[in-house]
Amino acid sequence: MLILACGLITVLAGAFVLTPLFKEPKGNMEVELLAETELDRLLNRKAIVYSNLKELEFEYKMGRLSDADFRRLEAGYKSEASLILQKLDHLGAEKDIDETIERDVVARKARLYSAAPKPARESAKCPACGAATVPGKKFCADCGQRL
Ligand SMILES: [Zn+2]
Repeated sequence: MLILACGLITVLAGAFVLTPLFKEPKGNMEVELLAETELDRLLNRKAIVYSNLKELEFEYKMGRLSDADFRRLEAGYKSEASLILQKLDHLGAEKDIDETIERDVVARKARLYSAAPKPARESAKCPACGAATVPGKKFCADCGQRL
């Protein structure tokens, strides 16, 4: 009875965690972003399933699971693992290498620009008259605008 309850909890937890995998990305705008997170999620999920399998084998060797329970749970994990591998293959096949490089370059550029120092305050202009402001001054020398 305890084993049955454990099995049920495992199945429910598995179903709960697996549910997001079946949700398809909505809208082309976010496909790229979703593909990234989907990949991460699949890799995470794969690691979890493999560790669950190991744990299951351990439990079985310790005699905490019946043959039937072990086979059933193992089959469940293995089919889940193969589903994840299929999805990973699918994601990998979709990614054109040129596209990947291009995206990488864009990401690097974005990082470079965001990391570049902002224009120094010295070169700032007065918001009222547009005259170059003197560093450290609280008011514009030309029009008296507070800076
Ligand atoms: Zn001014």
